[in-house]
Amino acid sequence: MSNVDKMCLRLLAICFLPIIAAAPIAMAVSAFNDAFVHMGAPPLLSDLSWPITLVTAAVCAALFAVQATRIWRWKEGKSLSCSNCGCLLGSIREGRWGPYRKCLGCRGNHSER
Ligand SMILES: [Zn+2]
Repeated sequence: MSNVDKMCLRLLAICFLPIIAAAPIAMAVSAFNDAFVHMGAPPLLSDLSWPITLVTAAVCAALFAVQATRIWRWKEGKSLSCSNCGCLLGSIREGRWGPYRKCLGCRGNHSER
């Protein structure tokens, strides 16, 4: 697996985090609603699992658009790239020796000074 593959995997894996977080929430809301129905009470919540799923899918699509734009800008040479491997650099972080950026491919640190 090349450094460019690792960079793309790191960028696009973030797109799946909302669906991973929302699936248990939707299941819990549905189970909570079903428990009230089985007790004979009217359901407190309408079926919220579909709206949660749709909002999550929209968030995932928006994140994918942002990450794909970052990759496209890197490919066009419009963003900062690593001097070792040429991959995209991440956002600025504060470190012990000042601000730096981490390479998304080889995970090397690049000082901002
Ligand atoms: Zn690098």
